[in-house]
Amino acid sequence: MKKEEVLRLDAAHVWHPCTQQKDHELLPPLPIARGDGVYLVDYDGNRIIDGVSSWWVNLFGHNHPRLNRALTEQTGKIAHHIFAGFTHQPAAELAARLCELAPPGLTKVFFADNGSAAVEVALKMSFQYWQQVGVRQKTRFVSLTDAYHGETLGALSVGGCDLYRSIYRPILLEGFQVQGPDCFRCPYQKQRESCNAECIEQMERLLLQEHEQIAGVIIEPLIQGAAGMRVYPPVYLRKLRELCTRCDVHYIADEIAVGFGRTGRLFANEHAGTTPDLLCLSKGITGGYMPLAVTLTSEEIYRAFYDDYATMKAFLHSHSYSGNPLACAIAVEVLRIFEEEQILQLLTPRMNQLQAAAPRFTALAQVGEFRRCGMVAAVELVQDRNGKIPYPWQERRGLAVYREALARGALLRPLGNVVYFMPPLTINADELDSLLDIAYQAIVAVTEK
Ligand SMILES: *Cc1c(COP(=O)(O)O)cnc(C)c1O
Repeated sequence: MKKEEVLRLDAAHVWHPCTQQKDHELLPPLPIARGDGVYLVDYDGNRIIDGVSSWWVNLFGHNHPRLNRALTEQTGKIAHHIFAGFTHQPAAELAARLCELAPPGLTKVFFADNGSAAVEVALKMSFQYWQQVGVRQKTRFVSLTDAYHGETLGALSVGGCDLYRSIYRPILLEGFQVQGPDCFRCPYQKQRESCNAECIEQMERLLLQEHEQIAGVIIEPLIQGAAGMRVYPPVYLRKLRELCTRCDVHYIADEIAVGFGRTGRLFANEHAGTTPDLLCLSKGITGGYMPLAVTLTSEEIYRAFYDDYATMKAFLHSHSYSGNPLACAIAVEVLRIFEEEQILQLLTPRMNQLQAAAPRFTALAQVGEFRRCGMVAAVELVQDRNGKIPYPWQERRGLAVYREALARGALLRPLGNVVYFMPPLTINADELDSLLDIAYQAIVAVTEK
């Protein structure tokens, strides 16, 4: 099919995610013909560096020989079968391996097929746990301002990004929201490198007062992604873990975006030495190949559901594609690649290279902050640096950066006024240099207007 025909059919029938379709009148979607390492290749052969890992999912580049092989091998056996009453090697192997690698104490794995579903699973498990151990008033969840946990109604209920949420408020669950860490505009005038997570005080007050009606606290560890890659220190996780234990409330970690090496460790909680009660993973789990998600939990939570059928304590949640063998086979291969190709050990020079770009960006008058955690970095554009005053959202500076970068050969998809980098972990030095150069030029083009 020719590019024009793809575009014609798309315009006639496709409704794209997170898109005002009318924007496509000005800038139609770009048909991609194939992938090659960190590059997306369009129909005209133009190569575009995938600076956002295709919405945070890709780990080792596109069209990866080992992942391709793992997929083909599993396809030759079976693509999918029912996962209730049946099992298969890739799921069993993946579950065992994840429990080995995850923070200690997480021993059970529940499968779903996307991140939002993994969050729904965690919320339902937490709620049902308290019901079954006889603490029936624990029915509400605590989340942070500007949090992002997915788009289904339960996940959206614990989200804090008004952009995605406001209109649905009448049909969302009631919960508590507390001020999340905002290190760039820290109300306590602290630095993220040296603070003691003073900003947790609001959370502390709420948990101490209301714990009797709180089932769990859900957060994105170390980086609040959709909030604009807000980076905050591990001490916050340590304090939150302590508070949750003290108040008998579940600590639910949503590592859907930050898991699988993005922060420089396999899981973000490792930086704090903390074990959540429930851990949600997805996105990078298949290296960006297939939809798959898991929710890990402890023996203690699992035990509260384990009884004779007639007690009606089972977790009766399912998805048609639960434990899909193709996705699991790729996920097993992803973990082998991490180990055999020493992915995390080899990240240090790339993280240093990202950090070394900081002065270049912060020298620009319209850059308020350059922040980084592991292989994720963000440049926050501001109208006025001294007052840290954001550009009005109506100006759509981020969209302008997107267009300028695309014209220069890189995919950046800013979050509001925040231009961020989340490249595949295997990006090489030259590719990362190009990505940073293009971002720099795009930002200059957009801010000097
Ligand atoms: C992407 C994301 C989700 C939702 O995952 P989907 O697969 O898009 O449903 C949830 N939480 C976080 C932190 C995410 O980044």
